[in-house]
Amino acid sequence: MRKAKNKVETLLLKGKAVSDTIRSKLEPRVKALKKDGIVPKLAAILVGDDPASQVYVRSKANAFEQLSCKSQTFKLESDSGDADVLALIDLLNNDEDIHGILVQLPLPPNLNSKKILHTVSPDKDVDGLHPQNLGLLFEGNPNFIPCTPHGILEILKHYDIPVSGRYAVIVGRSNIVGKPMFALLAQKFDMGNATVTICHTGTKDLIAHTKRADILIAAAGSPNMITGEMIKEGVDIIDVGINRVDDDSEKGYKLLGDVDSDSVMGIAHSVTPVPGGVGPMTITMLLVNTVLSAEKCRKLETAV
Ligand code: NAP
Repeated sequence: MRKAKNKVETLLLKGKAVSDTIRSKLEPRVKALKKDGIVPKLAAILVGDDPASQVYVRSKANAFEQLSCKSQTFKLESDSGDADVLALIDLLNNDEDIHGILVQLPLPPNLNSKKILHTVSPDKDVDGLHPQNLGLLFEGNPNFIPCTPHGILEILKHYDIPVSGRYAVIVGRSNIVGKPMFALLAQKFDMGNATVTICHTGTKDLIAHTKRADILIAAAGSPNMITGEMIKEGVDIIDVGINRVDDDSEKGYKLLGDVDSDSVMGIAHSVTPVPGGVGPMTITMLLVNTVLSAEKCRKLETAV
C-alpha cells in the first residue's frame, strides 16, 4: 500500500527549458568564434539504416543549424567493415575544420565498436566516450563530459535539486550513461558529493536499493520498469530511458521511459518526462562540447 499517494505534487523536470537557457548562453560564444573565422563543426558518422539512429542524427544536425554551427553526416552502408569506418575517422581526425566527431551508436553488430570509439581523436571526442576522456572524468579532471550524464547534472542544477550528501541510485551501468553518471555524482564538487550505488541485471533485490534513493537515475532501457512501489516519497527521478513500444497509432509506436510515470506521480518530488526530459539535454550538451572543442582549437592557434 502506498502511504503517501497523491500527497506530493510531483514536479516535471522539463529538459527543453534547461536546454533553451544553455543554448542562449552558447550564442555569444559561437559569435565570438565566428569573428575569428571559426565555425564549430560536428561530423556525425551513421552506419546502416537503423530508423531511431537516423532520427537522432537528424535532430542533432537541426540543433547545430539552429545555433549557426555546422554539421555533416557521413553515411556508411550497414555492411561496411571496421576498415571503412576507421579510414573515415582518420580523415576526420585530420580535418582542421571538424571540431567534433560523433559515432552514432549502436553500430551494426559486425563492427568492433570499442576499436572504432578508441580511434576518434580524444581532442574531437565530443561524446566523451574515448577511454582517455572517461579516465580524466573519473580522475575528476574532465576534458569532454559524456553528453547524457552532463545534461542530467544541468537539469538537477537548473531545478535546484540538491545532490551533495544525498543517496543516489543509478539503474544501468553502460559506458554512455550509467558509469559516467556514477563518476559525476560521486565526484567531490558542487554538483556531486553524493553517495552512489549502481545497479544492473546482476543486482539482487533491486527494489531494496531503489526504495532508499533520494535521487534515482533510471537508465536500463526497459519500459516502465520503475514503478511507484519501488520508490520512496520525495525522491527526485531522472528517466533516461527511451523505449519504442509498438502500438496502433499512425506512427506504429510510442516512446516510453524506464519509469512508469503515472505510478510515481504523487510520490516523487520530481521526475523528468519522456519525451522532453533528458533527450533534449543530450543534444544540447553535444553542442556545448563542440563549441568547447572549437574554442580549444582557437587557443592552440593563438598560442602558435
Ligand atoms: P544499455 O547499454 O543497454 O545498458 C542498460 C543497462 O541497464 C545495463 O547495464 C543493464 O545491466 C541494465 N539493466 C537492464 N535491464 C535491467 C533490469 N531489469 N534491472 C537492472 N538493470 C537492468 O543502455 P544505455 O545505452 O545505457 O541506454 C539506456 C536507456 O537510455 C535506453 O532506453 C536508451 O535508449 C536511453 N538513452 C537515452 C538517452 C537520452 O538522451 N535520453 C541517451 C542514451 C540512452 P547489465 O549491464 O547487467 O546488462
